[in-house]
Amino acid sequence: MSREHCFREELDQLHREGLYRRFLPVSSVGDAMVELDGAKTLLFCSNDYLGLSTHPILSQRSMEATARFGTSTGASRLVSGTNLLHVELEEEISRFKGTERALVFNSGYAANTGVISALVSDGDFIFSDRLNHASIIDGSILSRAKLIRYHHNDMDHLRSLLKKHRGKGRGLIVSDGVFSMDGDLPPFADLVALKEEFDLVLMIDDAHGTGVMGEKGRGSSHEAGVADRVDIHMGTFGKALGSFGAYVAASETIVEYLINRSRSFIFSTSLPPAVIGASRAGVELVQSPEGEELRRRLRANRQRLVQQLTDAGFSTTPSTTQIVPIMVGDPHRTMEFARRLLQRGIFLQGIRPPTVPRGTSRLRCTVMAAHTAEQIDRCAAALIQVGGELGVIP
Ligand SMILES: *Cc1c(COP(=O)(O)O)cnc(C)c1O
Repeated sequence: MSREHCFREELDQLHREGLYRRFLPVSSVGDAMVELDGAKTLLFCSNDYLGLSTHPILSQRSMEATARFGTSTGASRLVSGTNLLHVELEEEISRFKGTERALVFNSGYAANTGVISALVSDGDFIFSDRLNHASIIDGSILSRAKLIRYHHNDMDHLRSLLKKHRGKGRGLIVSDGVFSMDGDLPPFADLVALKEEFDLVLMIDDAHGTGVMGEKGRGSSHEAGVADRVDIHMGTFGKALGSFGAYVAASETIVEYLINRSRSFIFSTSLPPAVIGASRAGVELVQSPEGEELRRRLRANRQRLVQQLTDAGFSTTPSTTQIVPIMVGDPHRTMEFARRLLQRGIFLQGIRPPTVPRGTSRLRCTVMAAHTAEQIDRCAAALIQVGGELGVIP
């Protein structure tokens, strides 16, 4: 028996449960169209909501940054890996988010693991929504603080847990700003009221709200009117901003603390100039009139798709954003749904455990500003046809 036998067995088990994962390599991209295995398909599973990853301004600024500073920073931020571009991007982000300071992290995953594990430790508490992103859970595990998960968006449950643990060590409340697999928002007003009542730090992960929600794309807590009461704003450059990496925007004290304490920030080579240049251009673009127009188109496209799906009997609740879940339940049926859509030229991913809770496998449909009305209609028609074939809708 080979040493790898146990891994093979576990993979076989994943196959039987319909949970085996593999990737589909994309061979070329253009506005909302990608080529898979030589076949052109319509993209409905990207987080590049505003299409900025193929915007000429971002490529140009990325190339200019490379021409000026090279392809690598050659060191972590606290050694020699901070250049002018990092500093300027952080200044731009603090203006964008309206905070004293900002700090760039190498990815959203690195930000969540690095920030949470720095802020709390043994004897402390993390109150985390059940549907928060995996990187928040991983950061919590790494911190060694006690992870307390409250029912999704259930503020009564959160309050009872806060009461139970009042006065015992530092506490952090963490929530996604837009839930990545359901497309709904947390009850912001209640969250900030609770964190103030119990005197805790509130962190919002706005990976899916940054660039698409609020005035000038500042994010979901801005749209909700409570941004100044959120202590730590985390957001990413790899989704609507069309680049890569993440930021944390917060007070002077918290940012200085993270620079000195956050291990994923301290012990990793900083993002290369190409990425920082594109991120800077992305943040500027979402604040421009062009950004406003892209957000308007995104909202219109979302409305057009959801209208057709609900008319046909699909439930897209609780989504209120560009992330539109189509609940299927069973993982095998979910993947069959995705396979049949691909045959019709629609590229849409099935999402299964452990990304979502058991029994809630779904298609995660994401709308982009670049979709034309005709493309939205084609996607809706394919979903309705296949949904009917598989008995997902009557
Ligand atoms: C994508 C995502 C992350 C991770 O960000 P990366 O930059 O892709 O590592 C973190 N949180 C949420 C909610 C996300 O959707």
